[in-house]
Amino acid sequence: MLRKNDIIELNITSLTSDGDGVGRAGELVFFVPNTAVGDVIDARVLKIKKNVGFAKVESIVTPSPDRIEPDCPVAHSCGGCVYRHISYEAELNAKRQKVFDAVTRIGKLDGALVKDIIPSKNIDGYRNKAMIPIGLDRNGGVVMGFYARHSHNIMHCPSCRLSPDVFNEIAGDVYEFFRTRPELIYTSQNRSGVRHLYLRYAEAADRVMVCFVAGKRGFDGDSELYDSLTEKYPSIASIVINVNPDDTNVILGKRTYTVYGDGVITDTLCGLRFDIAPEAFYQVNRTQAERLYDKARSYAALTGGEVLLDLYCGAGTIGLSMAKDCRELVGVEIIPQAVENAKKNADRNGIGNARFICGDASQAAVQLKGEGIRPDVIVVDPPRKGLTPELIGTIVSMAPDRVVYVSCDPATLARDLKLFTEQDYSVEEITPVDMFPRTAHVESVVMMSRNDI
Ligand code: SAH
Repeated sequence: MLRKNDIIELNITSLTSDGDGVGRAGELVFFVPNTAVGDVIDARVLKIKKNVGFAKVESIVTPSPDRIEPDCPVAHSCGGCVYRHISYEAELNAKRQKVFDAVTRIGKLDGALVKDIIPSKNIDGYRNKAMIPIGLDRNGGVVMGFYARHSHNIMHCPSCRLSPDVFNEIAGDVYEFFRTRPELIYTSQNRSGVRHLYLRYAEAADRVMVCFVAGKRGFDGDSELYDSLTEKYPSIASIVINVNPDDTNVILGKRTYTVYGDGVITDTLCGLRFDIAPEAFYQVNRTQAERLYDKARSYAALTGGEVLLDLYCGAGTIGLSMAKDCRELVGVEIIPQAVENAKKNADRNGIGNARFICGDASQAAVQLKGEGIRPDVIVVDPPRKGLTPELIGTIVSMAPDRVVYVSCDPATLARDLKLFTEQDYSVEEITPVDMFPRTAHVESVVMMSRNDI
């Protein structure tokens, strides 16, 4: 009988979808973070539940050939990167495998449909968005950085290799400002202080938006901080304060006030210019988003005469990047500020054949069907939880020739593809895309077509 704190030798033979190594000890399957396929390790048992166990590396007996030296001081404790200790090639293989496993096991699809993964051009500094929590440690000291894996404890590390240099410099200065002012930090008691530094970067124009998320609209010394930041960083285009006094896990509150600049940033993607409000979703890896959209565009195979429906459209980016190739574009998105962005983005790019609806995708699809809209192509790009069975039913009943599914979660994607294949659609191709190097996340884009065409 194995117990907590026992040391066991494990051969790591595969990785879970979260990036943990898997090794067997008799009947038990152990999960061990920060390991690589091919490692032989001495592991310390942390917990055993029925036939699975959790362990951590005590020492590496024989390192996997995939191993590289992690180049970040918090690589093993931060919840962001899980693949900083293996080569990028090994990481890409693991991510393709994650998509392959989901679509074959959950989706019951032929694994040959899964094409090569599209690697990211940049594997560091690629994020154009950072949400950096600020809080107090046990001793009341100010900490700013990243949540530890599977927890809400903040690891102090204001700089991150996935962020551009300008984020790390601004975050360092913001930390210096708050370091000596713990009374300005949000706690569940005061509900007023600062809780997150949220940064966005419009790479093409080299413009930064700085957002402070706080329990109330201002804090002592705020204008002094804003002035020193805008003086030091000419690339800061906007500073906004988002008010969130609620004790929840949701980062952004409902109200945002602009304190400097115009409160939006504008980026260029696929040759178009997009305004992005702080509340609107925007792809975090811009260069890679262009590759993702290129693939989605080739799957949509538009010829100029089609009606295109873009569900979960955010600020309209996917649909607008295809608008010139179709007759009519309808986008649906639930966040009002993103819909406002989408409408303005159509205008500013001279796109006259697009309209946008603010609402839930499942309900809007029913409404559009009722209006007699018959899309030839539907693009969906839902959040991690995927589509509802009702929406899949409505899409099928609208009978588009092709459905392009962009997904950030292989498991819900596979679940949804199974429903489509049970209702008149076939999966033609699945391309994994690495949007988030070093993290466990992998994006996929899928082409489906109606069986009777
Ligand atoms: N296609 C966009 C956005 C994808 S992210 C892009 O590539 O940038 C998913 C989007 O779905 C987010 O903008 C989110 O606000 C939106 N969303 C979430 N739930 C929704 C729902 N029930 N109905 C419509 N949109 C929703």
